[in-house]
Amino acid sequence: MKIHHLNCGSLCPSRGHKILRAIPEEIVCHCLLIETAHQLILVDTGLGLQDLREPRSLGPMSYLLGVQADTSLSAYEQVKKLGFSSADVTDLVMTHLDLDHAGGIPDFRMARVHVAGTELTAAKSRKNFRFRERYRTHHIAGDVKWQTFDSSKGEAWNGFNLVQELAGLPPEILLVGLPGHTPGHCGVVVQSGESWIMHAGDAYYDERDLGTASEQPLWTKAFARLVHTDHPEAIKTKTALANLKNDPKIQLFCSHDPKEFQAALTT
Ligand SMILES: [Zn+2]
Repeated sequence: MKIHHLNCGSLCPSRGHKILRAIPEEIVCHCLLIETAHQLILVDTGLGLQDLREPRSLGPMSYLLGVQADTSLSAYEQVKKLGFSSADVTDLVMTHLDLDHAGGIPDFRMARVHVAGTELTAAKSRKNFRFRERYRTHHIAGDVKWQTFDSSKGEAWNGFNLVQELAGLPPEILLVGLPGHTPGHCGVVVQSGESWIMHAGDAYYDERDLGTASEQPLWTKAFARLVHTDHPEAIKTKTALANLKNDPKIQLFCSHDPKEFQAALTT
């Protein structure tokens, strides 16, 4: 099994504004491309070709996030650069369906898309303004081969539910319910012998979020309040993840921390 770390979207919420200089210059969209003997699996898809060609198609969130128009960052282009075609990608494993994670779904129409059932229901509900803006119709509409699972059930693992035996995925790839950010938000763990890689999605945004309250950046505190669908659950999830950060057997990272992304590229 070979794992590639891909940045599938560059976000610049501060746009150089001095008043917002505490926000990093660049926020990444950390995705994984996993090569096995018989499958090519993407963990999250970042922003898609259409989003990176025309960020305005993402609505007001494209301005809030500072989406940079650059199609070379799409998973579609990066998969091609690694010598594959989009049709070679057999499975997409989604931490959740927010627009900066689900944008590439339309670029891989041949793939099965694994996502928590509660997340898909929320994304399709369009029940309020916030849901309509964070979940974009063009990412999830049409002929998508959804494979849903129940993220609330599974074997206990480090204080989380480890969802196993997902149809069509190799046994080394498992989902972990990480509730709070969205209704069906999950992490993805990849087991290698006694060690694990854990992609925690948007359970936190900056590695300092896993430290004490005073170490947490102000911008992530504010952003968390804005986007969490269940803030108390999200805090519980973050606390449980902080306990994993110093476990030498687990390489933990989130979707958007550029330092964690750079560190992953060198390990
Ligand atoms: Zn995100």
